Amino acid sequence: MRLTGTIVNYYIHCKRQCWLFAHKLNFEDDSEDVRIGRILHEIRSEGRNNTEIQLEGIKVDKLTDEFVVELKKSDADVAATTWQTMYYLYILRQKGLERRGRLEFLERNKQTYKTVEVELNEASEQKLKGLLAEIETYLAQDKPLPALHSKKCDRCAYYAYCFI
Ligand code: SF4
Repeated sequence: MRLTGTIVNYYIHCKRQCWLFAHKLNFEDDSEDVRIGRILHEIRSEGRNNTEIQLEGIKVDKLTDEFVVELKKSDADVAATTWQTMYYLYILRQKGLERRGRLEFLERNKQTYKTVEVELNEASEQKLKGLLAEIETYLAQDKPLPALHSKKCDRCAYYAYCFI
């Protein structure tokens, strides 16, 4: 199975969500949160020159001379966004492009961005490779881990699938 930044993000956020998404059980279009996120993303892209780019296997929000920029509507899971961005940096490195990562979080009703910079150094690259191997092994299983029953579930697009 081809991995993506979203799969890496979901693996950190919720392994069950990761498995469901990777196996094409995609309920995200029904989620109000996902729709809001998409609209925010479109609004923010306007006037900032929509520089979303797609390369083989990855889709990054913005690529500048210095940074891969990942835009999120909240900083609820910085770790998941960090490893998603690390994955993009890793794929770009394989294509001969060296960048740093910048995570930009915009809470609803706020006009300011919280930004976090990340770097794919030797240690984080090794950690990422281990993580990718772990994800591949997990996704090869024939069923996902059980539902989490955590605070994360409250706004999750998969809530109905997991609990109703
Ligand atoms: S509802 Fe909870 S357990 Fe189910 S996919 Fe979402 S976060 Fe994971």
